[in-house]
Amino acid sequence: MSSSLSQDRSETVFADYKGEYTPDQAMVEANRCLFCTDAPCVKACPTHIEIPQFIRKIATGNVKGSARTIFDANILGMSCARVCPVEVLCVGDCVYNEMGVPPIQIGKLQRYATDHAFDAQWRFFEAGPDSGKSVALIGAGPASLAAAHELRRNGHRCTIFEKRPAVGGLNTTGVAPYKMKADRSVEEVQWVLGIGGIEVKTGVDVGASISFEELEKQYDAVFVGVGLGPDTILSVPGTDLPGVEGAVDWIEKMKLGRVPTEGAKSCVIVGGGNTALDCVREALGLGIAQVTMVYRGVEEKMSGYAHEWKAAQTQGARVEWQALPVAYEGNGKVERVVCQRLDTNKKPIAGSDFTVPADLVLVAIGQSKLGHLLSKLEGIEVSGGKVVTNDDGATGRRGWYAGGDCRNGGKEVVNAAAEGKAAARAIHAFLTGGV
Ligand SMILES: Cc1cc2nc3c(=O)[nH]c(=O)nc-3n(C[C@H](O)[C@H](O)[C@H](O)COP(=O)(O)OP(=O)(O)OC[C@H]3O[C@@H](n4cnc5c(N)ncnc54)[C@H](O)[C@@H]3O)c2cc1C
Ligand code: SF4
Repeated sequence: MSSSLSQDRSETVFADYKGEYTPDQAMVEANRCLFCTDAPCVKACPTHIEIPQFIRKIATGNVKGSARTIFDANILGMSCARVCPVEVLCVGDCVYNEMGVPPIQIGKLQRYATDHAFDAQWRFFEAGPDSGKSVALIGAGPASLAAAHELRRNGHRCTIFEKRPAVGGLNTTGVAPYKMKADRSVEEVQWVLGIGGIEVKTGVDVGASISFEELEKQYDAVFVGVGLGPDTILSVPGTDLPGVEGAVDWIEKMKLGRVPTEGAKSCVIVGGGNTALDCVREALGLGIAQVTMVYRGVEEKMSGYAHEWKAAQTQGARVEWQALPVAYEGNGKVERVVCQRLDTNKKPIAGSDFTVPADLVLVAIGQSKLGHLLSKLEGIEVSGGKVVTNDDGATGRRGWYAGGDCRNGGKEVVNAAAEGKAAARAIHAFLTGGV
């Protein structure tokens, strides 16, 4: 497994936007918690971490016990503490919101406990006695990692196949660097693998380097955690000009290496989702002075989180609402984007063309889905590009399970972790009882 990342990565210029708690700050915040019974924050967490319990342990000085509570529910609790959109999950549901009092900073407390555990290299879980069964997991993202860890706790041998050289999936290649940098994600993967008995084979593109059927022959069960595919492209004249890039592709280059932003004065981001908002903040953070988001809808309808848009505006983001690029123009490289204004039905308004300067254009209008990779396997149903499963992640093909973005169409790391773990439990039941 290759884990060495270049030191010379564009993402290293970003500071942590939420910062770490000191022990005193953590203690004060933990003591504000009301330790609610039937706590709404727990229900809002897809992995159902016992939040009041882990906070109480911090409040009583038992940081190790606190970390154990978190990891017992979610082995990716360290990255989730940094990357979870807590504002719309646990923190958003904290009872303090209804009282007009600032909610408990659950993410920061979770980070406090999990960082301590990681820095001290505390280990909480051991592999179960060897079951003699083996599972192949496709993709080394959060879904497969959570599944593999749970399978190891039950004694099943695991092999993860990852097509990229880097492990961690989008946690490594996609998450905004002011939330978490790639090296922390790779370190987390290594920490998870510390349970032992999980082999990771990078550079193996399942479906190309090895067939799905071959995997099926070699392993007792298969978990599919392939995530989403390449960026969707907006086919307008000039799409091939240098400087016009798919957003997720560009973010990966920025996180794992260097993107040439020196000399770039202006950037256009196409889209209004969370990837678009990340790109806006990343382009501004890399020193591009004029960053304009071009979105076909209105502010109230954008799919990006309101708190992220607020943060982008504070950093100086510009926006063109109800607008659509109709051409990228420039001499040998992109220099401007020609846009058209849209009416409330998203229909172009004749004669409304305007241009926005752009040395860089990042197209963040979605990613393709990868379900089609499996559609030739009898019994596996694919709908809208997503792999169809029951609630436990079982597909219609015996021994085949799926979880994470390839199943849910693209949610958050915490959803992938929850789905991976649930599928692992179903795989365990299948391997031990033939369910
Ligand atoms: C730009 C961006 C920013 C994001 N920011 C956040 C955030 O701040 N917070 C948050 O919670 N979520 C965020 N997300 C979403 C989150 O990253 C995903 O929901 C999560 O990573 C999904 O996990 P996964 O394991 O299903 O897929 P992935 O993380 O995509 O991992 C899938 C892995 O499978 C590999 N793979 C694919 N096909 C094959 C194959 N045929 N053979 C072998 N390997 C294969 C891929 O290379 C990849 O490593 C973001 C997503 C994007 C695109
Ligand atoms: S809802 Fe808020 S106050 Fe209640 S247990 Fe959760 S974090 Fe603590």
